Amino acid sequence: MSLVASYLDNQYKAQENTTGIAEMSQMTQDLPTRDEAEEAVRVLLRWIGENPEREGLRKTPKRVTSAFAEFFAGYAQDPEEVLSHTFEDIDQYEGFVLLRGIDFVSHCEHHILPVIGEAHIAYIPSKGVVGISKLARVVEIFAKRLQTQESMTVDIARVIERALKPKGVAVMVSAEHQCMSIRGVCKPGVKTITTHCTGAFKDNPVLWQDFKDQASA
Ligand SMILES: [Zn+2]
Repeated sequence: MSLVASYLDNQYKAQENTTGIAEMSQMTQDLPTRDEAEEAVRVLLRWIGENPEREGLRKTPKRVTSAFAEFFAGYAQDPEEVLSHTFEDIDQYEGFVLLRGIDFVSHCEHHILPVIGEAHIAYIPSKGVVGISKLARVVEIFAKRLQTQESMTVDIARVIERALKPKGVAVMVSAEHQCMSIRGVCKPGVKTITTHCTGAFKDNPVLWQDFKDQASA
């Protein structure tokens, strides 16, 4: 069990009790301890000119590290494992299965700022289908890691390819990046669209267009 998974596990068991993470950190070489992570937050607070010891900020490092454990829980989860159980009774079904509008909140690897958007996923089953909620879980796992939208789009398609061996996969992600909305060029409301497709979606422009039309309908 990874540090983050153990931490979350511990946190659910005993809300404010954080001794578990400290013990776990000491057993896990190379990973900083929870105390060190909280100290890093204090350093950032001092760096912006704050006093981490003042009343309002005293518990902030603990809250920030808890939030990080939640935002990045995806490192402790295996998306391929999520797709490992399939149903084979698909009869004569030959079309694609589309999940449209899977909301997610992720964080960009360049600024650790929120990326908020939705993913649309389609695949053409070859012999098995997967429970549709599992595809939403896959999005959730990749979203809870640091990444770029481009890599997330490809990663989702690749894991479905590997796990389900479908006749084709199509993924479209549409998201607003807070690193562009609230800093830098400061343009809120701009959506970044990324797409990736394999197999029949790549070979057949009509099918690819059909996916894009239905995903953005
Ligand atoms: Zn960014």
